[in-house]
Amino acid sequence: MAEFHYAVDAEGVASITWDVPGRSMNVMSLAGFQELDTHIDAALADPAVKGVVITSAKKDFAGGMDLNVIARMRDEAGDDPARGLFEGVMAMHGVMRKIERAGMDERNKGGKPIAAALPGTALGIGLELPLACHRIFAADNPKAKIGLPEIMVGIFPGAGGTTRLVRKLGAMAAAPFLLEGKLSDPKKARAAGLIDEVVDDPVAAAKEWVLSGPSIVKPWDEKGYKMPGGAPYSPSGFMTFVGASAMVNGKTKGVYPAARALLSAVYEGALVPFDTALQIEARWFTHVLMNPSSGAMIRSLFINKEALEKGAVRPSDIPDQSVRKLGVIGAGMMGAGIALVAAQAGIEVVLVDQSQEAADKGRAYTESYMDKGIARGKANADKKAEIMGRITATTDYSALSGADLVIEAVFEDPAIKAEVTKRVQAAVGETCTIATNTSTLPISDLARAADRQDAFIGIHFFSPVEKMALVEIIKGRETGERAVARALDFVRQIRKTPIVVNDARFFYANRCIIPYINEGIRMVGEGIAPALVENAAKLVGMPLGPLQLVDETSIDLGVKIARATRAAMGAAYPDGAVDDVLFWLADQGRLGRKAGAGFYTYDAAGKRTGLWEGLDHYPRAADQPELSEVQHRLLFAQVLEAVRALEAGVLTDIREGDVGAILGWGFAPWSGGPFSWLDMIGAGRAVAICDDLAARHGPRFAPPDLLREMAERDETFYGRFGPAAQAA
Ligand code: NAD
Repeated sequence: MAEFHYAVDAEGVASITWDVPGRSMNVMSLAGFQELDTHIDAALADPAVKGVVITSAKKDFAGGMDLNVIARMRDEAGDDPARGLFEGVMAMHGVMRKIERAGMDERNKGGKPIAAALPGTALGIGLELPLACHRIFAADNPKAKIGLPEIMVGIFPGAGGTTRLVRKLGAMAAAPFLLEGKLSDPKKARAAGLIDEVVDDPVAAAKEWVLSGPSIVKPWDEKGYKMPGGAPYSPSGFMTFVGASAMVNGKTKGVYPAARALLSAVYEGALVPFDTALQIEARWFTHVLMNPSSGAMIRSLFINKEALEKGAVRPSDIPDQSVRKLGVIGAGMMGAGIALVAAQAGIEVVLVDQSQEAADKGRAYTESYMDKGIARGKANADKKAEIMGRITATTDYSALSGADLVIEAVFEDPAIKAEVTKRVQAAVGETCTIATNTSTLPISDLARAADRQDAFIGIHFFSPVEKMALVEIIKGRETGERAVARALDFVRQIRKTPIVVNDARFFYANRCIIPYINEGIRMVGEGIAPALVENAAKLVGMPLGPLQLVDETSIDLGVKIARATRAAMGAAYPDGAVDDVLFWLADQGRLGRKAGAGFYTYDAAGKRTGLWEGLDHYPRAADQPELSEVQHRLLFAQVLEAVRALEAGVLTDIREGDVGAILGWGFAPWSGGPFSWLDMIGAGRAVAICDDLAARHGPRFAPPDLLREMAERDETFYGRFGPAAQAA
């Protein structure tokens, strides 16, 4: 079925209208590109055609390239994939360049004007294609988003968008759009020079323009073209490129191949004529596609994240369980955040605490959040009134009557939680699902307080609730499918990403993050330089070093968790060496950021000022380990735990393991997640590294049987457990 439609009107304007069948948003496929090429050829060859308008039959222009295609491109590029990819990308450039030259000869004579008319959103290749046209008209649609977000999923604009935008705006002005993937509404996009005109009827305006006999030569195809803001070898060019290079390396620590490749494509491209610059862009784009990081990032951060949000693991035979009325018990830090995100999603919220004052304080959190939004121009008084109007703060459990879901977020104490569950149960109807936000207590144990254990479930939010995208849903032994569907439908309503795991100590995310923190603390006790530990973590793409992380979450929480774990595990407890350091810090009153003192020192405003010199209490070892040794310890502490969670059936889907790791605790996003990372290095190499680490540092690094078996069989996680393998 056709993805582009071609028609010529009585005045000689050819319309090429994008309308991918069966999708609400156009995305570019390889077949679509070929159709576009054919229509351009037809328009340029037909003497009756005076000009061309490229538009969309949908409310938006396009969402970008079909990322499924990009994720598969490397695997499907033949025996010599780099060559196959490069040639494929150059073919794409050929079509874009054909549009841009539009039949002009070498002296820029002849040619037909080609305009883009954008009814709404135009992202990625949906903007690269208009950038190849001669003029871009956009509808005055404030909801539309215009930009090049490729960098967010580990690639960069590789269909000429990089080269064209830099030539159009200059490197400095193009930087936020290319390097940060900044999106704008049409008016801001016009002000920035991304597009040319914002009008009521872009198709009519574009037709009028192509018939007006406009000049269509791009500045870079004219003699004497100079790059806005200066070429690299000019005083301002030096400033721009040196600054950009420092900024990119500072932000990415060199672990994201796309950002570096983009910068190289821009710099090298700026030194040569336009067509050579396109070849350079294509080579760097091929380089990025050949790096396994790009495919893994696209798979986890886009394809699988979206699949989970759309209900990939939702029980399919349960009807819609959307929540109209939500109860939240405990209006503390977590409860207040849950009330906020639910009210924002249009859900009626009853927020219950022990005293009216505590309940009101929880509700006031939404008020101050909205006030900040108003101050930044992101909300208005009406919106605030609407959202505040949805939250009732009370001490009265009877107000929960009619709730579809009640989430308990009271103190982390099983007796208090059991009491709350009983009171909730007495107030709500038969169909209400009861959930707990506990971070450490087994769901199956808490469920015992409920009469209907099948309607009891864990819904574990991360702090701060309004910022963190992941929600971990935990099934207790008796949890039924309807409760799972309810939790998933609620998470969809509040627009977060869910993973569903089985009940086990610390569930999934905390189970993996605690060993990471512990490994860092353990190294301090061994006399490894704290700065080496922290920088090793950041240089492998972790957003926070383990010592900073424990400062943020607080040392006393660490002590509490350690005590509880030790009590539960008895003699098998493996982390005594960690506790020595942690308990010593707590004894010094260094409880982390909130106390203004922890592994780090802080100034009066609470800003980190450096690692605490008192850590010298643990004498610095004369031989400091290699950076890679520290990185392996920090990474394998996490990924082995992820493998054990899969082996134990806590995780049932590796997609959830990867997406949950990146969104839940920031696991090196460039890697696509722990399972993607293991696939990248190979199970055999992982086992060899872990055997070596185990021999020197202890059995916590011993490879789980599953990993050993996969190494012997030369298997990958996505090969064995990925959706394709599961479907087969
Ligand atoms: P908090 O101390 O900030 O808030 C707890 C609130 O519960 C307080 O307002 C308290 O007055 C109220 N409360 C206590 N007993 C009550 C009762 N019987 N009836 C009604 N209200 C009662 O705690 P928090 O950090 O919001 O944590 C709440 C829950 O969420 C805990 O189970 C915790 O483990 C879990 N959790 C916390 C985090 C986090 O980062 N803080 C993250 C995930 C999960």
